[in-house]
Amino acid sequence: EGSDRSEEQVSGAKVIAQALKTQDVEYMFGVVGIPVTEIALAAQELGIKYIGMRNEQAACYAASAVGYLTGRPGVCLVVSGPGLIHALGGMANANMNCWPLIVIGGSSERNQEAMGAFQEFPQVEACRLYTKFSARPSTIELIPFIIEKAVRSSIYGRPGACYIDIPADFVTLQANVTSIKYKECCMPPPVSMAETSAVCAAASVLRDAKQPLLIIGKGAAYSHAEDSIRKLVEQCSLPFLPTPMGKGVVPDNHPNCVGAARSRALQSADVIVLFGARLNWILHFGLPPRYQADVKFIQIDICAEELGNNVRPSVILLGDINAVSKQLLEQFDKTPWQCPPDGQWWKTLREKMKSNEAISKELASQKSLPMNYYTVFYHVQEQLPQDSFIVSEGANTMDIGRTMLQNCLPRHRLDAGSFGTMGVGLGFAIAAALVAKDRSPGQRVICVEGDSAFGFSGMEVETICRYNLPIILLVVNNNGIYQGFDADTWEKMLHFQEAATTVPPMCLLPNSHYEQVMTTFGGKGYFVRTPEELQHSLRQALQDTSKPCLLNIMIEPQSTRKAQDFHWLTRSNM
Ligand code: ADP
Ligand code: MG
Repeated sequence: EGSDRSEEQVSGAKVIAQALKTQDVEYMFGVVGIPVTEIALAAQELGIKYIGMRNEQAACYAASAVGYLTGRPGVCLVVSGPGLIHALGGMANANMNCWPLIVIGGSSERNQEAMGAFQEFPQVEACRLYTKFSARPSTIELIPFIIEKAVRSSIYGRPGACYIDIPADFVTLQANVTSIKYKECCMPPPVSMAETSAVCAAASVLRDAKQPLLIIGKGAAYSHAEDSIRKLVEQCSLPFLPTPMGKGVVPDNHPNCVGAARSRALQSADVIVLFGARLNWILHFGLPPRYQADVKFIQIDICAEELGNNVRPSVILLGDINAVSKQLLEQFDKTPWQCPPDGQWWKTLREKMKSNEAISKELASQKSLPMNYYTVFYHVQEQLPQDSFIVSEGANTMDIGRTMLQNCLPRHRLDAGSFGTMGVGLGFAIAAALVAKDRSPGQRVICVEGDSAFGFSGMEVETICRYNLPIILLVVNNNGIYQGFDADTWEKMLHFQEAATTVPPMCLLPNSHYEQVMTTFGGKGYFVRTPEELQHSLRQALQDTSKPCLLNIMIEPQSTRKAQDFHWLTRSNM
């Protein structure tokens, strides 16, 4: 058998699957249909884990999170036209976050082009804005070539999204086996180091600093720089501030974490080292009044074009964060230096942290019902296992949750990110649960959602139950977007208003029983009104690993965050 392979045929679907497998792709998310079903089947046959989702957008969020968590792109598989268009949100989000992702879209048949074919759309062009690379192989033989290029582009340099277009007729078209040449798996991304002179300059700027600060971004998390950055923090006694997804690179409960004095640290620092964090809206552009006008930035990034954005840095270190951190460490190994641990800078920061923590504690201890955000997060943090993945989105739910829920491991927090995207939570949680299952069994995924955020992809609860993923969903429910109304006010309002269309735009239906979405599919649901109910149901959810859970936590509909030093802070996601 098989002595003469010259007659053996292979379908386009199988070539796609084999090419992905050869490039070490491990996960594929999607919604099947004409013309891509065969691709999913072929991928599954080769051992690629296929996860069928309920909407392409959530599938694309999931695939992108896998890329961030594993450093290898996940694939999102979608049908032509509307399927691809639903995935654009996920592609944009991945690209903005600098996360690797491959989207494979079926498209209409080549011989019907411009004739009004089924779901015809200029897909390669449409994806160009959201990707680093967008292409359609012109023959089956070229599929492995394009797939290798897409995978490589997604992880080399600044990571990002790539799109591959597959005409419907390719899927079933047969090619001669011997005509297909698979490209070897691309090499891991090359690791680049900064110029030695720049590293020396950076060390000397740091040595002269009176009020130094490290900012740790999700680029540092992505580059696995946790060990070297931690050494630097400890050896030089440096205060550090994580960005939302930089949380956990060095644990939040590390004594040098000054997250609780964030505004003060930013405002007073004279030298700031940026480890893979852009000076965009999340970091207030690096400008006054949030920073000293003459603060010196030492900027580390893998993307040369990023260096100097918004602020002219004192020193630029172009390279991989892990490698550059080690270069910096060498400097301080040779000539040790420390930010005085009992000096004025550390005193100022510690005092501010203490007073801010006291305010949160005070809010958390309030006994009034419905609960406020701080009470909810206080009780969640009390039981949260330290190695949990925390997925979080919503307005106040995410902002306050970020300050109170601690991450102790790198790449264990996923949220609305650079693009401020709502609706990512369930897709991210599904990705995290799969990665946890395969790479760190026993770790839990806690997905903290505002009630509005949950609504974007609520039907993915069915996906969670179908794959029986051990996810605990917490819906922090205030009956609305930003704020809602209690049931009584709602009733009165409807009574006095002539038309339902005058319902305030921020309102959602009061007392919605979101936990029943979970019980509908066989998971466990809890309706939670008091701290005691929260403690009890969370304990049960954490103990019972056999089923996904949803806690629908009712909070004060008008609850907001504590007063901020900068009022415009309250409107951004920071
Ligand atoms: P955050 O949201 O945490 O502030 P950003 O997404 O704004 O983080 O910034 C992450 C930065 O990290 C991007 O500018 C990206 O180019 C950079 N980056 C990603 N991977 C690496 C790496 N391996 N080495 C250096 N920089 C990296
Ligand atoms: Mg809400």
